[in-house]
Amino acid sequence: MDYYSSQISKLIEELSSLPGIGSKSAQRLAFHILNMPIEYVEKLSSTIVEARKKVTYCKNCFTLTDQEQCPICRNESRDHKTIMVVEDTRDLAAYEKTNKYDGVYHVLHGAISPMLGIGPGDIKLKELMQRLQEDVNEVIIATNSSLEGETTAMYISKLIKPTGIKVTRIASGVPVGGDLEYIDEMTLLRALEGRVEL
Ligand code: ZN
Repeated sequence: MDYYSSQISKLIEELSSLPGIGSKSAQRLAFHILNMPIEYVEKLSSTIVEARKKVTYCKNCFTLTDQEQCPICRNESRDHKTIMVVEDTRDLAAYEKTNKYDGVYHVLHGAISPMLGIGPGDIKLKELMQRLQEDVNEVIIATNSSLEGETTAMYISKLIKPTGIKVTRIASGVPVGGDLEYIDEMTLLRALEGRVEL
């Protein structure tokens, strides 16, 4: 990329390190940014920095939030004895969009993947087990139906079984390898309603 000056090349390089941004998109974004009024660029960059600084994990469910506890955990009208385990905050958002789930969540921030070297200690599993010391009726495992998601579901159910707490898995209406985030709300609801006890 020597035909661009070093500042431009650097910007393109940084942008192309983001997920889903190939070199063509990075170039398009870079030139878009370079043509933006400087105030907009400052606003955009400070929004990114502020969000990164302020957003942290909810102390209960580990979803991303800018407060000590997320709005779902703070909401007393929700059923705090039903915990849905999801891989990431985007999955939580997908279930929230259905407006039909009134329990709380636990966000693992990943899934067990021996291939990628991600073990049980690398996701928020210990934190989930700690939460189960409290009064919990049911744990709904809503990890993705990918190999990693299924491995994680099996692992969690084996951990929870001895505690006597009911463990369920969302139904397989969700296509294999499907990312929960992209599945429509009806399918999510069917998967939730058709959950089976493990
Ligand atoms: Zn929370």
